[in-house]
Amino acid sequence: MHNKNKILDTDIDIKFLVGAGPKRAELLQKELNINSLEDLLYYFPYRYVDRSRIFYIHEIDGNTQYVQLKGKLSNCTKAGEGRTARLTARLTDATGTIELVWFKGIKYIEDKYKAGKEYIVFGKPTEFDHAFNIVHPEIEEYNPDNTQREMGLQALYNTTEKMKNNFLNSKALQKIMHSAVQRIIRQPLAETLPAYIIEQNHLLLLNTAIINIHFPKNTQLLTKAQQRLKFEELFYIQLSILQKGKMREQAYKGFVFEKIGHFFNTFYEKHLPFELTNAQKRVLREIRADVRSGRQMNRLLQGDVGSGKTLVALMAMLMAADNGYQAAIMAPTEILATQHFNSICELLGDLGINVALLTGSTRKKDRKTIDERLQSGELHILIGTHALIEETVVFQNLGLVIIDEQHRFGVEQRSRLWRKNDQPPHILVMTATPIPRTLAMTIYGDLRISVIDELPPGRKPIQTYHYFDNKRNALNGFLRKQIELGRQVYVVYPLIQESEKIDLKNLEEGFEYMKEAFPEYHISMLHGKMRPAEKDAEMQRFVKGETQIMVATTVIEVGVNVPNASVMVIENAERFGLSQLHQLRGRVGRGADQSYCLLMSGFKLGEDTRKRLQIMVDSNDGFEIAEADLKMRGPGDMDGTVQSGLPFDLKIANLAHDGKMLEYTRHIAAQILERDPQLQQPENNILVSRMEKLKRDKMNWGAIS
Ligand code: ADP
Ligand code: MG
Repeated sequence: MHNKNKILDTDIDIKFLVGAGPKRAELLQKELNINSLEDLLYYFPYRYVDRSRIFYIHEIDGNTQYVQLKGKLSNCTKAGEGRTARLTARLTDATGTIELVWFKGIKYIEDKYKAGKEYIVFGKPTEFDHAFNIVHPEIEEYNPDNTQREMGLQALYNTTEKMKNNFLNSKALQKIMHSAVQRIIRQPLAETLPAYIIEQNHLLLLNTAIINIHFPKNTQLLTKAQQRLKFEELFYIQLSILQKGKMREQAYKGFVFEKIGHFFNTFYEKHLPFELTNAQKRVLREIRADVRSGRQMNRLLQGDVGSGKTLVALMAMLMAADNGYQAAIMAPTEILATQHFNSICELLGDLGINVALLTGSTRKKDRKTIDERLQSGELHILIGTHALIEETVVFQNLGLVIIDEQHRFGVEQRSRLWRKNDQPPHILVMTATPIPRTLAMTIYGDLRISVIDELPPGRKPIQTYHYFDNKRNALNGFLRKQIELGRQVYVVYPLIQESEKIDLKNLEEGFEYMKEAFPEYHISMLHGKMRPAEKDAEMQRFVKGETQIMVATTVIEVGVNVPNASVMVIENAERFGLSQLHQLRGRVGRGADQSYCLLMSGFKLGEDTRKRLQIMVDSNDGFEIAEADLKMRGPGDMDGTVQSGLPFDLKIANLAHDGKMLEYTRHIAAQILERDPQLQQPENNILVSRMEKLKRDKMNWGAIS
């Protein structure tokens, strides 16, 4: 107990920090999950402002972000009462005047700051009525001796509404942080990377990095601090993934599909209605190499919507059948499973492959037959939804599992499939959400990656337009023309009626509207709350061409394939994310006809939304769109599935922007594992203990949120 370690105890409760205290500690805990000194130090600023210089008022223009000004205060005026009260004042320097405005804390400001004195003011100017003002600026009396303290880069921290209401804003948090940083200056944090990694990669020490991330001495040190912390985050993610992958590869042998036989060959020669694209052929070769290698296949197949992934899946399943193994394909929705079932049956024809469909709504009697045929080995292929992974589904000899549209399945669900045979089956995961390669390797762990980067020939690029709601008559005229040409139309709405958002046109209203606007046509309606049998019936009516218009929610987003449907209208397009819009658009352009996607929106659009819709109008390329999507989102705003797919949480690195670093750290991690696969060398002890801690943190956090 007496030989207290030189190294700081980072579990110390934050209420013991200067400026924190029990009340604020509780807020930090509740609002930001900051419990300890360590949590606090790892709460990083979201940006920095440069307070190294004082601006002139006449320099302010529409692009100015934050400015620091020096001037004389005058004309302090109070107006309004209670909630509408406001205090304005003017700040004047040698070049001009700017208005300062307060809506809160008026009394305090009035008492503290006096006209005629010189002040340093800091804030974000906004344009109002052809002039600039600063709302709630930071303000302090100008003191030539004191300004040094404020100079340089200043960190800004995200705080919640509740925190702000309790005067725990960014500035206040910065003060608490200051006291925390003083501690680690006296007593440094324990290093979290081995010395040799720090040296070889020219990284800052952890302690230096943490100090400079909060209180950067200068821009160079800030950049180095960011690099160090990003490196560490991404490095540990890669190390963990690679290690897991290695362990799995050693642990799991794969079934060997020795031959290409009767089923595959006959299908290829007699049943295939078209020539495979080169990309499809290449991917099939990659799969073939995996399934005969003796190692278990874990492969991710990326291919834009309509690139023909289903066919690849089917042919891989025929490889299994040729070698006496069963195969299963799992889809995220019942509609999609049914559709796979229909199109696969049609493609197979009289080949002699036995296929069954199993979903939540399969009747007990049918279910029993399926179970029997599965266990006897008579069924070659089982198609279905989540129902497939239930414990009760028992195969005779499951050799290959295909998961369609991966993003709908969790890792946990995937791993349940593994227990369906003594040895885990080969796994092929298919997704239409293309993402950069390294990123994919990170999110999907140790999956190997195949890409179909080519659409079947003869597809005309979909034409996409964005219209405001006032173009509705013109739109209807266009739809009518298309239907007269024999085409079918989708109209998609973002929400169904239980939504609280009354301003949204809901599906049923839309349905009524379409019935009125198109009395001469038949209209289908489809949404998630319908019973499976109803859904299926509606879908079939549309597939058979009995209805011309399909009014639906996003249940049709994934995978639905009706080649004759060539127009996709998306209502309230501003409510959808980019990849969702791209998925929806992918429902058309599946036949030979020119297809159209019409994005309808209200007039009032934020800049980001406008940009999103424009990207859709400009590009048909799923890869380009996915990248734009990633870039447009902030680091904290990543798709939930992406974040939850990572072994550890990211606090500073951003998968969209730090692709290079991600790749670099993967390379370093691979080298280390090459030399020391079990991480048993003493120099690597630190790696093992750090990964354990990160794992614990992730689990704790998961339990809380
Ligand atoms: P996705 O990759 O989005 O799942 P699908 O597998 O549903 O795409 O295929 C889209 C359409 O393209 C289907 O109608 C399918 O029959 C057709 N298709 C697939 N491969 C080819 C090909 N090589 N040539 C022509 N059409 C193809
Ligand atoms: Mg598909």
